[in-house]
Amino acid sequence: MSKKHSFQTEINQLLELMIHSLYSNKEIFLRELISNASDALDKLNYLSLTDEKLKGLKFSPRIDISFDSAKGTLSIKDNGIGMNEEDLINHLGTIAKSGTKSFLNSLSGDKKKDSALIGQFGVGFYSAFMVADKIIVQSKKAGDTKAYAWISDGKGEYEISECTKEEQGSEIVLYLKDEDKKFASKWEIESIIKRYSEHIAFPIFLSYEESKTQEEGDKKVEKKEHKCEQINKATAIWKLPKSELKPKDYEEFYKGFSGDSEAPLCYVHSKAEGSLEYTTLFFIPKKAPFDLYRVDYKSGVKLYVKRVFITDDDKELLPPYLRFIRGVIDSEDLPLNVSREILQQNRILANIKSASVKKILSEIKNLSKDEAKYEEFYKEFGKVLKEGLYSDFENKENILELLRFTTSAKQNRSLKAYKDSMPKEQKSIYYLLGENLELLKASPILEKYKRQGYEVLLLSDEVDSFVMPSVGEYDKVALKDAASKEALSELGEEEISKEEKEQFEALTKEFKEILSDEVNEVSLSKNLASPVALIGTEENAMMANLMRQMGQEMPKMPKNLELNITHPLIQKLSKHQNKEELKNMARLLLDSARLMDSGSLDNAKEFSQALFDLLEKSL
Ligand code: ADP
Repeated sequence: MSKKHSFQTEINQLLELMIHSLYSNKEIFLRELISNASDALDKLNYLSLTDEKLKGLKFSPRIDISFDSAKGTLSIKDNGIGMNEEDLINHLGTIAKSGTKSFLNSLSGDKKKDSALIGQFGVGFYSAFMVADKIIVQSKKAGDTKAYAWISDGKGEYEISECTKEEQGSEIVLYLKDEDKKFASKWEIESIIKRYSEHIAFPIFLSYEESKTQEEGDKKVEKKEHKCEQINKATAIWKLPKSELKPKDYEEFYKGFSGDSEAPLCYVHSKAEGSLEYTTLFFIPKKAPFDLYRVDYKSGVKLYVKRVFITDDDKELLPPYLRFIRGVIDSEDLPLNVSREILQQNRILANIKSASVKKILSEIKNLSKDEAKYEEFYKEFGKVLKEGLYSDFENKENILELLRFTTSAKQNRSLKAYKDSMPKEQKSIYYLLGENLELLKASPILEKYKRQGYEVLLLSDEVDSFVMPSVGEYDKVALKDAASKEALSELGEEEISKEEKEQFEALTKEFKEILSDEVNEVSLSKNLASPVALIGTEENAMMANLMRQMGQEMPKMPKNLELNITHPLIQKLSKHQNKEELKNMARLLLDSARLMDSGSLDNAKEFSQALFDLLEKSL
């Protein structure tokens, strides 16, 4: 008796895509199926050591590949955990993870790029429909007596029926499409496995037939001989000594492990011996993973205990700001039967984690010696790294060392370089926050600092406004918001004389009255380049901090309007009498200052009206 089931809508969408669009890199289907088999072996390995029911189970984990080139079939078999009827429905008929949905959303239309995404998103199994028009999965779950067959042609439906199967595990049989029959060949299979799966931790055996000519009497007869060969190294590469490994080995392992089609930017492999014994192998990818900024990002680090896989979905293995790291932690000291929940509070793991973070940060620092490479890294991961300032207090100084900024003077500037070139009298490190670099570079506030010969960090990443105010100091120098009164008071601006104050008193008073609802204060300055500027206030800074702590957006707060008394426009204005015109001028000047400050206006209509009136009068 077989039962028909329909695929979930998203699976159909996915299959449609696999079958009709993603042609460029078809061979990866084999990597995906082998990776699933390896996961299944990992799971059973773990359970056979920890689960009461499966403890006695004797099994030597292996993956077997066989093919029939005449029929065009290819089989991938493992003796891992296997699937029961329910598993088959849940795992090969529905999408449990949101990953596949995001996969569908992130497709670019560029086939090469899109097929590279398949591995990252873990839609692995279905990729087999790129090359097969029928797939049969026969599976028996470890510990069960019944086995089930799953059959589908990838067109909307699949069928499940009982079948017979000796050993636990799964066998996936692909009925290759005519144009893909080439995959049923020894040479193809070997070369794909060499490329992608050489360092799968389990042996992969390939069965094939070899023809031999033998002499029987005076006749030559062709005989077929059956052979079975292990075709991968099957070593947990991280356990090998560094001296035995070449960069190419790391690169190949990384590709198979992460599903990334590109080589990693760099890697760090280390072994700790002493009170704790463990091995770590971490990679920094070249490109940010698709889910880097998603809340439900997938952890890229796998935890092993004495080569036995424990988990790959523990986001606590590394702090969130290092979520772009891919790699392995393998501990000799953790107990195998520790539950995944308890892992989180485990002291051994906490120690490994803390040491790993330091290792990775110091590797990134190493990377920074090569400027071009570091730029590449920073473009992808700089923003994420900054989050660490907020969450990893212990490593704050280390993280600060790694940051690079665009400043009023230079690009890719480190805080160290900034500090080293500070003029003697400069008291703090100054930064200016804003929407984008264009605006920041044109800021009238920046002008004040430039006049003093002070460099200012220009910060336009969204995370900057959260993170930078909490930094406090770098190497004993305070970091200050350049638009704050406190920072501005450090500039040693030219004093306004008593006479000057008197000269502009009437204008100041007039402006205050006109703009009383919109600005906090109207003050005078001799250090601006433009006629006016908006300056942040202490209340702004305090409010911003408070809102941040509550995780809310900063409301609009009134700022101070500064008038540049050295500017001819302001000087002429101070002698102007017409109240109606002054009102217009005040409006226009404030709004121009706002435009320079934030690049946008809420009251565009009023602004335009004031401008039109003025233009009309000037004609
Ligand atoms: P992923 O491997 O990323 O989870 P797949 O679509 O490749 O996504 O597989 C879906 C699920 O099907 C797996 O998570 C696993 O539970 C199950 N599965 C696939 N292949 C096997 C196998 N050979 N043995 C046991 N379970 C498997």
